Amino acid sequence: MVNDALLAKWVWRYRVEEENIWRRVVTTCHGRSRKWSSLPSNPALSRVWKNIMSMEFKVLVEGKRIHNHIKGVLGDGSEGEEDIKNWKWTRPPSSPDEVSELGNCSVQLGGIFTASVKDKWMWKPDVSGQFSTKLFTRIALGTLNEEDLYPTKSCGWVPAKCNILIWRAALDRIPTRQALVRRNIAVESYVCALCGEVTETVDHIFTACSISLKVWNRSCVWAKLPPFFAFSFKDILDYHKSVGGDKKTKELVCGLVVVAVWCIWKARNEKIFADGRGDSEEILGSLDHLDFFLVKM
Ligand SMILES: [Zn+2]
Repeated sequence: MVNDALLAKWVWRYRVEEENIWRRVVTTCHGRSRKWSSLPSNPALSRVWKNIMSMEFKVLVEGKRIHNHIKGVLGDGSEGEEDIKNWKWTRPPSSPDEVSELGNCSVQLGGIFTASVKDKWMWKPDVSGQFSTKLFTRIALGTLNEEDLYPTKSCGWVPAKCNILIWRAALDRIPTRQALVRRNIAVESYVCALCGEVTETVDHIFTACSISLKVWNRSCVWAKLPPFFAFSFKDILDYHKSVGGDKKTKELVCGLVVVAVWCIWKARNEKIFADGRGDSEEILGSLDHLDFFLVKM
């Protein structure tokens, strides 16, 4: 099992360490795979990488090969070998059918616009998108539990709808504008509906948006909590672990975070679909009006 986990780590590293020398050597010796879903392997060479790839072919996790658990997330299309803006054709179209197919392909791609964040690779089983041998081993052994998949337990005393939003956001399954663009759904703009500054992603809305930062800062001052520094959605969900106090205090802080996330997302939706202002005052106002929360504090 340890070997399988280390093998998976090699596959992951090949994907993400594009600039490293060892990766370039492998690519030079074994060529480039033209598919996102597979890795290069030159059968004529008898080298370590070939052995790694032959093992990769045999190891199945939840019935799938390791590379099937790695997903390419399209951003601005500027990273990697498969740059969609600069196709690297092996030959020009050679028949009327191929010319027609190329024309259709170009028309369909013409309706797609890409986000202003970089392309990236994600390890699908982990909400953070990062590979870990620990999680890999648990999946392979079938000992995965809810806590491994979700960064936080649900807070029992906040409404279920808030916990559901948290789970969906942690899995990048809420309809941010970037997510809609990724699914080829037409949106009038891909910038954040709250601040209007950068591409609307889960991480941006809840950790980097100037509107939500004001909400976090004011909430921390109000609840006498340490300053809030988050670089990803997962950091938000881990925040309660960093505050002092007993278990009940941490649970209350966890609840504050969950409810604040829900209020931020609600304000975002009301700004788009209703007549909400979507500013920090409005969000803090809705937090203030949640009687159940004030009673608990
Ligand atoms: Zn924003």
